[in-house]
Amino acid sequence: MTVPSHHPGDTLLIDYAGGALGEAASLIVATHLALCPCCRLNVAEMEAVGGALLDEIEPDEIDPSCLDAVLARLDEHPPMPRAARPVRPAKPVETPLLPEPLRRYIGDDLNALRWKTLMPGMACVDIPTGDSARARLMRLRGGVGPPHHTHDGLELTLVLDGGFTDELGQFARGDLAVGDDSVRHRPVADPEGCLCLAVVDGRLNLTGALGRFLNPFIRF
Ligand SMILES: [Zn+2]
Repeated sequence: MTVPSHHPGDTLLIDYAGGALGEAASLIVATHLALCPCCRLNVAEMEAVGGALLDEIEPDEIDPSCLDAVLARLDEHPPMPRAARPVRPAKPVETPLLPEPLRRYIGDDLNALRWKTLMPGMACVDIPTGDSARARLMRLRGGVGPPHHTHDGLELTLVLDGGFTDELGQFARGDLAVGDDSVRHRPVADPEGCLCLAVVDGRLNLTGALGRFLNPFIRF
């Protein structure tokens, strides 16, 4: 199994480890973790540091200044070792195409899912979660992609099979792309096609002349 080269970044991982993410974002970060030993290690260390801090705080210290106390203590701790050091699993483990925890939501049979066509060569399955962010499994034929777009909120895309390329780089299995309202991009599926999990928090806005025309009609 190759190690992914695009990761969620510290902010998302800290929020994940602290339970501060919504269900859809947690699902996509957890699915990335299933494919990424580096981020698994980082999250384990974050959880260990968080647990140690909780143990150190006396119950009567928990008051409105608690956050300041925790932040001050975080400063006292040495920086977490980064994922740059080699991580070798004891034994290579074959990860299924749809890893846990995604399988818990949609099972493992892609053909049993109710695919909805968004545009020629692009289909999706909505994944019900308990928050307002939208989680979807997306399947794109090679060379296909949505028009140029930006987002009002956060867009997270995790490649499960195949890959895609956009202005930010090439993304393969396990890679997580993080987009926000500062990113205007047009992902295009690689020739072998792309299966990915996408979480969008906020509306997607198509840009360019065609995109502006399609905006009222298409909701990705
Ligand atoms: Zn990672």
